[in-house]
Amino acid sequence: MSQAAGGKGVGGADLAGIRALVIDDQDIIRDTVGRVLGSSDCEVEEAEDGRSALEALLQRDFDVVVVDLRMQGMDGLTFLSEALRIWPWLGVVIMSGYLDQEALQQAARLGVHSFVKKPIDWTTLVERVAQEAADKRQSLSRPAGVSLGSLQHKLGIFRKISTSAIESETLLGALRNLCMGLGEMFPAAVIGILSMETQEPVLVLYVVDPIGTACIREIEEHIRSRYRALSGRDLPEHIRIQTEGAACTDDGPQDLGSCLAVPVITGGQVEGLVTLAAGSGQAYSETDTPFLYHAANSLSTVLLAFRRIRQLAIRDGLTGLYNRRHLMEEMDRVWHTALRCEHPVGLAVVDVDNFKTVNDTYGHAVGDEVIKELSEIAMHTVRASDIIGRYGGDEFVIVLPGAATGDAVTFSKRLLKQVRTRTFCEGSHNLNITVSIGVASTSHQESLLGGSVELLGLADGAMYAAKRQGRDRICSWPPDLAAGDPDAAGSSPGVATGGRVPNPGRDTDRHRELVVSAFATMLEAREREVTWRMSSARSLARIMGRALSVTDDDLRDLTEGALLHDLGKVGIPDAILLKPSSLSREEMGVIRTHPEIGFRILRSFPFLEGVAQIVLSHQERFDGTGYPRKLKGQQICLGARIVAVIDAYDAMRSNRAYRQSLPLEAAVAEIQGGRGTQFDPDVVDVFMKCLPEVEQAGGWENPR
Ligand code: GH3
Ligand code: MG
Repeated sequence: MSQAAGGKGVGGADLAGIRALVIDDQDIIRDTVGRVLGSSDCEVEEAEDGRSALEALLQRDFDVVVVDLRMQGMDGLTFLSEALRIWPWLGVVIMSGYLDQEALQQAARLGVHSFVKKPIDWTTLVERVAQEAADKRQSLSRPAGVSLGSLQHKLGIFRKISTSAIESETLLGALRNLCMGLGEMFPAAVIGILSMETQEPVLVLYVVDPIGTACIREIEEHIRSRYRALSGRDLPEHIRIQTEGAACTDDGPQDLGSCLAVPVITGGQVEGLVTLAAGSGQAYSETDTPFLYHAANSLSTVLLAFRRIRQLAIRDGLTGLYNRRHLMEEMDRVWHTALRCEHPVGLAVVDVDNFKTVNDTYGHAVGDEVIKELSEIAMHTVRASDIIGRYGGDEFVIVLPGAATGDAVTFSKRLLKQVRTRTFCEGSHNLNITVSIGVASTSHQESLLGGSVELLGLADGAMYAAKRQGRDRICSWPPDLAAGDPDAAGSSPGVATGGRVPNPGRDTDRHRELVVSAFATMLEAREREVTWRMSSARSLARIMGRALSVTDDDLRDLTEGALLHDLGKVGIPDAILLKPSSLSREEMGVIRTHPEIGFRILRSFPFLEGVAQIVLSHQERFDGTGYPRKLKGQQICLGARIVAVIDAYDAMRSNRAYRQSLPLEAAVAEIQGGRGTQFDPDVVDVFMKCLPEVEQAGGWENPR
């Protein structure tokens, strides 16, 4: 739209102070008409189609519209019937080359009698515009049929509902509030708002008075035909209909009084329809229509605000995936469509295994990179119709429309494999990451009264089951579906159990033994003195673990942690590790990397997670001055606090190439001296109680 400049008048007529809107889909005609009217001092705005013109009418005042009859999209008469609802007193001049009898009659029914034939005689046009503007002024000078009181009342409600709609958290919530507010302004049995804001149109129907289901169908049909007439397009066959308020029943009243549907137009597009359906015997007054039109279109601000907020707020900043809120909305949408079309929906909840350790060991920037890479993998694994979002820190949710549980498990296996075979942060940190996946679908649930949220709860529960059963695997709801599928296993390098759907039985035990002993052999080959010390470390750990009443699982982690705590030394160069003289600062720095090296080696094996944690933390000190993470007190896992004591004691009591072992009293004094600083005081106390047993198991050469 553009303003035409003023200039020399046509036929001497003066159109000063008159505001005209010129609508024609042919640029040249529109521009010429605009210039001609402008040259008579008329204020002119132009619109190239009916919808843009309606939008202009809803935003600004005009005295006269000058409109072509045959236009692309919305024809002139359809435009006029809407325009005169918005401004019933608007002056109208029709310009057309096709003024047949039928068009004249239709125009007359709308109360339009002013025509200019194309090719246009400019003097006639200017005269007609002047006449229509004068008629409009006259009709406005007659007393209005609306009382100031009722107008103020309506405006008050209107202000209230716009505020509550804008404050809503979701678009559906906003539409619901708008419906309820409009219900206070107009007599209505049903108020409906159709919104095209989301991928799938949503129709919220707020039922004020109980009505029959046939009425709901009638309202939907009315909305469909109005949408067709106004937008030139059909609504999709399936639109989501959300009914609120009073009940609709088959035996409720089946008749409606009248139905009024006005479009919400923004950017020249029909973005929605606001519909009032009166109960039988009710009808809408002449003033209701324009008021509803203006109210509905002022509410388009709400829709626009939502659109803008959505653009900013639907995506997660780090990964670009849908964020939690939008994911939930999309999940709900898919859920409703699936329910209506009777097809299943699958969900997969994916959580990174031990992600905290990645952050703790390599820093948050590396953690972020891992999250980003994982989101890319997931995006490339899903189909176009699937929906993927970041649900929380290291947790992703994938919505799989049409997928039964078996399909969702198949998808998850693909994803699990992709993650396993990927080297994350390649070139800088070369990390192996695993994920645990929980799967659920509607196909195995009799009914899910809690809707999509309940389904998410089931998938989330399955994900936690996967964590409990050792991570790097898929669990489904119901559980037997994934467990019964032998192919769900896949394999991670060297570990046949990796990724297997849970069966933590003999196989895992056997593999664990083999692995642990392979590492012990590796360590033995590297550190010559180590063999003898390793067996004593295991025994001491067992004594301490029992005395501290740790569980069987923790005891196993503890003994293996004690055995392998120095595993990372395999990554320290011989020149430093086996150096007979004292170490420089730099060399000391290299030695101090061994807990992390050991941790990185063990981390690839989900069933050694507890062991890996002990390895990572065995050089921490109780007072927080240890390494690598400077953990303090209970932040250090119990296994590592125990290993710290027995390792120190064992080292002091053993002969080394460069020094004799310490006698018992001296070693005990050292341990006692570190109570509360280097060592956990409780562990030291238990150690003291177990000393005779410890000494016996240690079998050191220098008994006393
Ligand atoms: P589990 O195998 O049981 O899932 O162990 P986990 O360590 O992965 O534990 P959990 O999933 O509870 O931990 C998630 C961690 O993710 C906690 C938080 O420090 C980290 N985190 C959350 N959001 C971000 C993020 O945006 N960037 C980074 N780097 N870390 C994040
Ligand atoms: Mg995690």
